[in-house]
Amino acid sequence: MPRRVSIVPHTHWDREWYEPFQTFRLRLVHLIDGLLDLLERDPSYTTFLLDGQMAVVDDYLEVRPEAEDRIRALAASGRLTMGPWYILMDEFLVSGETIVRDLQMGIQRGAAFGGVMDVGYLPDMFGHVAQMPQLLRLAGFEHAVVWRGVPAVIEKNAFRWEALDGSGVRAEYLVVGYGNGASIPEDAEALVRRISDHEKEVGSFLLDGMLFMDGTDHQEPQPWLGRVVGEANELQDEFDLEVTSLASYLKRAVAQDLSTWRGELRSGARANVLMGVTSNRVDVRRRVAEAERALEKRAEPLCALLLPAEQWPSRLLELAWTQMVRNAAHDSVCACSVDDVTDAVLERYAEARQIGDGLAEQALKAFSRSLAEPGPVVVNPSAHARGGTIEIVLPGNSAPPDTQGLPEEPGAFGIPRGLGALTLDAPTVRTILGMLPDGSQIDTHTWIQSVSVAEDETGIDITIGFGSEERYDVPISTIKQDLYTRLGAHPDSVVRIRLDQPPTQRVLARVSNVPGFGWKPAEPEKLSNPVTIVEGDAAEVVIRNGLVSVAVDSSEGTFAVDGLRGFGRLVDGGDHGDSYNYSPPLSDQLVDTPDSVSVSISERGPVRGRIVIVSQYTWPEYVDGSSRARTGEQKVEVSTTLELCAEERFVRVSTTFVNPARDHRLRVHMPLPTAAPQSIAECAFGVVERGLEAEGRADEFGLPTFPAKRFVSAGGLTVVHDATTEYELVDIEESDGARRAHGLALTLLRSTGMLSRLGMSYRPLPAGPLTPVDGLQLLGQRVEANYSLCLSCDDPYRMAAEAIGDLEVVYAPGGGWRDSSGSSLEVEGAEVSALRRVAGVLELRVFNPSDHDTTVTVADRSGWVVDLRGRTLGPFDGSLDLRPFGIATLHLV
Ligand SMILES: [Zn+2]
Repeated sequence: MPRRVSIVPHTHWDREWYEPFQTFRLRLVHLIDGLLDLLERDPSYTTFLLDGQMAVVDDYLEVRPEAEDRIRALAASGRLTMGPWYILMDEFLVSGETIVRDLQMGIQRGAAFGGVMDVGYLPDMFGHVAQMPQLLRLAGFEHAVVWRGVPAVIEKNAFRWEALDGSGVRAEYLVVGYGNGASIPEDAEALVRRISDHEKEVGSFLLDGMLFMDGTDHQEPQPWLGRVVGEANELQDEFDLEVTSLASYLKRAVAQDLSTWRGELRSGARANVLMGVTSNRVDVRRRVAEAERALEKRAEPLCALLLPAEQWPSRLLELAWTQMVRNAAHDSVCACSVDDVTDAVLERYAEARQIGDGLAEQALKAFSRSLAEPGPVVVNPSAHARGGTIEIVLPGNSAPPDTQGLPEEPGAFGIPRGLGALTLDAPTVRTILGMLPDGSQIDTHTWIQSVSVAEDETGIDITIGFGSEERYDVPISTIKQDLYTRLGAHPDSVVRIRLDQPPTQRVLARVSNVPGFGWKPAEPEKLSNPVTIVEGDAAEVVIRNGLVSVAVDSSEGTFAVDGLRGFGRLVDGGDHGDSYNYSPPLSDQLVDTPDSVSVSISERGPVRGRIVIVSQYTWPEYVDGSSRARTGEQKVEVSTTLELCAEERFVRVSTTFVNPARDHRLRVHMPLPTAAPQSIAECAFGVVERGLEAEGRADEFGLPTFPAKRFVSAGGLTVVHDATTEYELVDIEESDGARRAHGLALTLLRSTGMLSRLGMSYRPLPAGPLTPVDGLQLLGQRVEANYSLCLSCDDPYRMAAEAIGDLEVVYAPGGGWRDSSGSSLEVEGAEVSALRRVAGVLELRVFNPSDHDTTVTVADRSGWVVDLRGRTLGPFDGSLDLRPFGIATLHLV
């Protein structure tokens, strides 16, 4: 029997990478112009795979809208296959929700062309998250196609890939990548030789036929494909060549007796996983997280719960998510691109965040007006009932008990609070009027309460009363029109303005037990564990709250948590790598000792205490290209603020500095309470356990640095961080044949100047063009890293919600219909990933992050369990049993 060789013509379209989007799109338009002609003209070119991402179609149609019918016709006849994704994302650097929305956007867009390819095509991602098989199953797919990350233990071209919950797909393994059949030769003998050589290369992997992927990065179709395949079949009977689609190939592929792999795919055994992208542009990582929080944790839940269904801002959210999904492209979010690309990525994230935060503010404002009683109210946008520290503005000028006064802010228009008076001439007043908005809100906490205008022969008198209560019934625009009229009639008059600003104060207060997705009056509560600061001898300052104690060692600039010393140790080393991989210089030089340290106290409790450690370091300036050694000297001041709040068991740390040097990696090291052989880190829809090693090969060193989405735990230490962060377990000791780590390092900055580099010690071959990219150095940029530490954390999800997410405070004017405390939705037993409206229906997505069964309850709600395409799986009435690591989407009525 001849071996069947299934040739799948395709192109892999990196939308932006070593060229910006618009430059690559010119090439895309040229490619698809030619492809459509080719497919229509030559029936032997039976099919073409448009890279599994609908963005390729949309990007083309934006330029050639007239081609839509041709594409639809070719898709309908199976000649063009497209989707299921909207974009080929990176799986580790975006949220689980972004992966889901990407898939849903792709499926929805593909529906306009007769549907998407039913294959989880994942050709170029830098490894794969553990829950991907479950997501694919929940969208109705039975197949994945993968390349990078597959471990050495997989020795065939297919395996059963299981998610953490045990659900699985058949994974086709592209042993040498998605371009094994790229650039098909024009000559039939050459083609047969090529296939024969490839069979020798991967023959031991082949279960049956050979999948020959005819395409690679931005490759144009080869018009001779049909002819040369026909001729090659005539020429020999060793191989039976066909031009086919991926789905047709998979339909016939061997699916029995496959070996099984459960969990994430991050091995560098046969292909680069490029693990260093996690830490290459830490500013991008922060912007991703901010935008994800604005949309997923603020705008969607607040709009879903606090606004009437008909006010759901679907189009604005769609625009924001489109930016998020476009940015999720593996070369985009991974920042392994030229600076034009990363600039565009940052701009898209800024837009998504602006939409998210703006919608959240609108929902909160509408909510505040719905409340019956006036006054400040705290709103909890998360599912966890929780407490927290809030900032509120109260009348008067002395902080009540159990609160902490904050520095006074200037009053309206920058004029000090109290009674003020000023006299202006008419032209100045006209200019000021022209610049004022028509609303009564002056700043976050100040509204105009009243305005009175009087006039006599000596001039115009205006009296404005301000207050901290929201007013929207002061007729500001009418008053402005009246003033314009008066000023026009008397252009020489004097205007005397009286400002009446009663004293207010900003205070910090603690509130507790704010219900999940609920609210209550923002009343300062009695502190059981207030923060105190003790200044002992010259070398030590201690901040504590009865639950945790933090002692600063002012000689080294480090600190101890509950007596465990050595937190906050900064270690700066060389990095002669590139955007893809860290690589130490030939001659490294580590700096972990500051030249000098100063410690000051900026807040003293009782609600919040803050200690600022300022350390001066001398770091080498760059890695010299010829000696490959760190060279030169640069002074840098690193400021680390330690913050402890009343009633909290964790300490917040914020480190910031202006990066003075090139070619280096800065990490913060911390001790583990007990030595650990593994870490547990958050990934999309769950947690993943990792050991101390990573599989690699000569072409890519198996560096055991890993991404953690919001938290990582090891040896009794839990670290929550506000952006995806690279970590590594360090200080490894071997005893009794077991290896254990004593420390954990978080990467705060990796500065490199090359998109890809040649001859690196950790990855000798290039992974992309050898292009200098200055932005990767982050030189002269302010770097900020925020994380929280806990030695007694029993629920890292709860800690992440409290350490990263803020409680919201609104000021109700009173007169609405809603009770002053309550909850819109009570969800227990699982983590909430999304809460939004879909076609008017409240959609709730939950997951079980634990390895035991759980019962999810949604009090007083019923509806349906649906899949990721919105298809009903069964009824839901108040509660649902959810398997370990299971994901479920509910439509609630
Ligand atoms: Zn790619």
